[in-house]
Amino acid sequence: MGRWVYLNGKLVEAENAKISVFDHGLLYGDGVFEGIRAYNKKIFKLDEHVDRLYNSAKIIMLDIPISKEEFKRAIIETCKANNIVNGYIRPIVTRGVGTLGLSPWNCSNPSVIVIADTIQLYPKEMYENGLEVVTVATRRNLPEAVNPMIKSLNYLNNILAKIEGKIAGVEEVIMLNQEGYVAECSGDNIFIIKGGKIFTPPIVVGALPGITQATVAEIAEKEGLPVIEKFFSRAEMYIADEVFLTGTAAEIVPVVKIDGRVIGDGKPGKITKVLIDKFNKYVVEHGTPIE
Ligand code: PMP
Repeated sequence: MGRWVYLNGKLVEAENAKISVFDHGLLYGDGVFEGIRAYNKKIFKLDEHVDRLYNSAKIIMLDIPISKEEFKRAIIETCKANNIVNGYIRPIVTRGVGTLGLSPWNCSNPSVIVIADTIQLYPKEMYENGLEVVTVATRRNLPEAVNPMIKSLNYLNNILAKIEGKIAGVEEVIMLNQEGYVAECSGDNIFIIKGGKIFTPPIVVGALPGITQATVAEIAEKEGLPVIEKFFSRAEMYIADEVFLTGTAAEIVPVVKIDGRVIGDGKPGKITKVLIDKFNKYVVEHGTPIE
C-alpha cells in the first residue's frame, strides 16, 4: 500500500512529494503549519485547526490559494488515501518558490501540503506516573517579534528550548516570557490547579492558542470547574496542587516534578485524572468523519 501526500491540488506518492530548494519555507522558515489528530476515523477539531492555520497565514500576510472548505476536503481526502483510523495530520503552507532574497513578494505560488501519518504514541508511563519538567533559559518569543500565536515554520525558539530539556534529561520544558511569567512549553500549553481552581496563562503572555487547551476548558466548564486565565510565576507553579500540559500529540499529561520541586503528592492529581478520563471520551465522540 502506498503512502500519499497532498501537494498543490494533487495526491502524489510520498516518495515523489518534493518541493524546491528555493521554497522560502526551507530558505527562511516562511510558512505556517498545523498538527491535527484523527481518532477512530474522525478528524478532531478540524474546523478549529483550519481556522488557526488561516489565522497564522493572515498574520504573516500569506494568502492560502484555496478556500477553507477546499482545505478541509484536501485533509479528508489525504486521510482517506492513507486509510487513516488513528493518525496525525500535518497541513503546511509555505510562501513558495522565490529568489534568494528575503522578499515574500517574489514568491508567487504558496506550496500547500498535507501529510497524514500514523501517530507515534507517548509511553503509557508518562500518563500514569506523570512527567518531570524543567524551566529553560530560552525565553518564549516576544509577541512583538515572531508572535507565538503564529504557528509558523520558524520553530527554532521551541527547538532551542527542547535541546535544553534534552540536556537536562526531560521530555518537555517550561518556557517563560520576557517578564518571567510562565508562557507555555516547547510544544504544549500548561495548566495549574490550586485550591480546586484551574488556571492557564492568557494568550497575551506569549503562547499558542492551543486547541487542546480550549477543549480542556470546555470539558472543565461542563464539570463545573471553569478555567481561569491568569499570569503566574514559577513560584506559583511550584506550590500548585496539580499541574498538567496539553497538546494535540500529547493530549493531557500530568506533571509531577518541576525544577526539582515535587508537585502535590508527586502523583498525577485527582482533577487532572478526571479531565483525562473525560477528554478520552470526548475525542472519540467528536470529529469530522473521514469519508
Ligand atoms: N504550544 C505550542 C508551541 C505548540 O506547538 C503546540 C502544539 N501545536 C501547543 C502549544 C498545543 O496546541 P494544540 O493543543 O492546538 O495542539
